[in-house]
Amino acid sequence: MTTLQKNFPVVEVNLKKLRQNIDEVVSRCNEKGIMVAGVVKGFNGIVEATRQFEESNCSFIGSSRLEHLKEAKDAGMKGPFMVVRIPMLSEVPDLVKFADISLNSEIEVIKEINAECARQGKKHSVILMADLGDLREGFWDKEAMAKTAVYIEKNLENVTLAGVGTNLGCYGSINPTIENMNQLIAIAETIEKEIGRTLSIISGGGTTSLPLVLDGTMPERINHLRIGEGISLGKDLQDLWGLDMSYLHPDVFTAKAEIIEVKDKPSYPVGEIFVDCFGNKGEYVDRGIRKRALLGLGKLDFAMSDMLIPREKGIEVLGGSSDHLIVDIEEYQGELKVGDFLEFDVRYATMMYLTASKYVRIECK
Ligand SMILES: *Cc1c(COP(=O)(O)O)cnc(C)c1O
Repeated sequence: MTTLQKNFPVVEVNLKKLRQNIDEVVSRCNEKGIMVAGVVKGFNGIVEATRQFEESNCSFIGSSRLEHLKEAKDAGMKGPFMVVRIPMLSEVPDLVKFADISLNSEIEVIKEINAECARQGKKHSVILMADLGDLREGFWDKEAMAKTAVYIEKNLENVTLAGVGTNLGCYGSINPTIENMNQLIAIAETIEKEIGRTLSIISGGGTTSLPLVLDGTMPERINHLRIGEGISLGKDLQDLWGLDMSYLHPDVFTAKAEIIEVKDKPSYPVGEIFVDCFGNKGEYVDRGIRKRALLGLGKLDFAMSDMLIPREKGIEVLGGSSDHLIVDIEEYQGELKVGDFLEFDVRYATMMYLTASKYVRIECK
């Protein structure tokens, strides 16, 4: 059997730059007494990239997907491994096998973890999640949360209550603030009073909580964050929050796609306009005849064409369809021809889709 000899499309991962970003972020957190779980789900747990986190001062390797942690473990990494999505009941056997600690909100699942630990002769730690308004995972009823904590402490011999945590800025777009961080600390302290000991982890969130650490306002008892995006894509915190992140490489990930057609064409579609191939009404601006290139990479691979950012000046993403990316190259200084490739920066969504696409080669260098 022969295999396809594919060069493009490819996502390149610069491991050295990734490692430098990890070190910059983790050292800033460690200085403030904050442990970091390096979260690798955003790039689908690419093993060599995960290894950079493993070899750094990260305290945990985290992912929402057990597949990523299993691959890391199979590649010889030691973790400890943290699962950052509330585990499915049906994945508890694998959870216990491949992870050391997980974020939880359902006592039913935690009891099953305890039982499974007994079967496998293992221990597992849990962080109970509090929902502080973002309305994704976690206890809304904080009394029920404290009761669950006490139950774990008193009744489950194979499960250790490591601490509490929260997640913000995902579904409900709620900002982490000094106020909601203090709410989490208050919950921790209520639980500590009831169980008569100090919790080892108070996990204040993900990348969106990092600004509080960087500007020195993170309340002292928060001692753990789970960070992926803020390390892998040094650009995002700068672009979205206006923070100075100049010490991070913005270009750890590079998407490269090959030009399959170059032609001068009208910029406004010709004929009766209805909907595009995904049923959306497009918006088109008539700028006359312009030079365009078609690339061999599509929405099947990146989902959102506006989240691919051309590296070079004079190139503008116009849109895409399942298997094509269409760019305007009218203003590009230089010649582009069929067979050349173009480079793009990625955002969180495009990093996630591209690294998951079985049609995109991944090259670590
Ligand atoms: C994905 C995830 C993270 C990490 O998010 P980033 O934005 O990549 O830092 C942290 N915590 C939870 C619960 C997550 O699901």
